[in-house]
Amino acid sequence: MSDELEKLLSPESISSWDFDLFRLNELTKGRPLAVLAFALIHMHGLMTKLKIDETVLKRYLVAFEDMYNTCMYHNPMHAADVMQALSYLVRGEIEESIAPDELFITLLAGPAHDIGHPGVNNAFLIKQQHPIAIKYNNTSVLETHHATLALDLMAEPDKDVLSFLSAERKDYLRHYLKELVLHTDLSLHNKIIKRLEENMDLSDPEDRKFTLQTLLHAADLSNPCKPWNIHVQWTHAILAEFFSQGDLEREMGLEVIPMLDRNASCGRTAQKNFFIGFVRPLYDS
Ligand code: AMP
Ligand code: MG
Ligand code: ZN
Repeated sequence: MSDELEKLLSPESISSWDFDLFRLNELTKGRPLAVLAFALIHMHGLMTKLKIDETVLKRYLVAFEDMYNTCMYHNPMHAADVMQALSYLVRGEIEESIAPDELFITLLAGPAHDIGHPGVNNAFLIKQQHPIAIKYNNTSVLETHHATLALDLMAEPDKDVLSFLSAERKDYLRHYLKELVLHTDLSLHNKIIKRLEENMDLSDPEDRKFTLQTLLHAADLSNPCKPWNIHVQWTHAILAEFFSQGDLEREMGLEVIPMLDRNASCGRTAQKNFFIGFVRPLYDS
């Protein structure tokens, strides 16, 4: 490991909101997820607090990284970025209020939350009546797909990172992971904002789960809150993926909404609307 990579993966560096995921991607030659995830789990002290098998965890994280497609945005970099932002957001009062295994499964929602993303959105899959849209009844199609893939992968005996738990606790945490990932469906955003008007009691399991679901959603939408040079790179990536879906729709003779149309979309206006409509209300709450 080079000195620069070692420094970038130090606890001080990976616990910073300004962490440079793009540099990590370069230094790891396009494989940032497993190394960063491993370093974050260490930083939270979970290797010592829980009886996690280090070899199994490494195999598990590499397998998750391998299951991401080479999409322009929904790739291992985005998964690593969401996990790092989530790790930042849970620190302090929240981390102290949750059990170590609950924190472990919450952090693992980062690598899990967009696994197997095909680079097109739910609306496209539903319009096409794609097999996964049919399979998941046109409801939170991608999110259910990600959660199912993640749970299937972690059920493989050589990737059983929860093997130190009782069968009952393991079931509970698998279900927890699913509920976290399902909550990343952007169509639930307004419901989340509404519920944030209530007071949260971290000693109440339901409030605690909702808090963690909200933090994962916030980590998923965190790129506009990052330093400008980092945010701009995420924006270029997501617009490139949006426009490639638009191109595909045009080729298929489908109507292309302005947000996905490279000839009609104004990146600046779309970003402004996204910040004002989604990101700011969430982060303010
Ligand atoms: P996900 O697809 O799971 O990453 O969900 C997050 C969603 O938030 C994305 O699909 C986009 O629709 C939206 N999003 C995140 N960042 C941006 C951004 N910078 N500009 C526009 N939309 C964004
Ligand atoms: Mg998603
Ligand atoms: Zn995401």
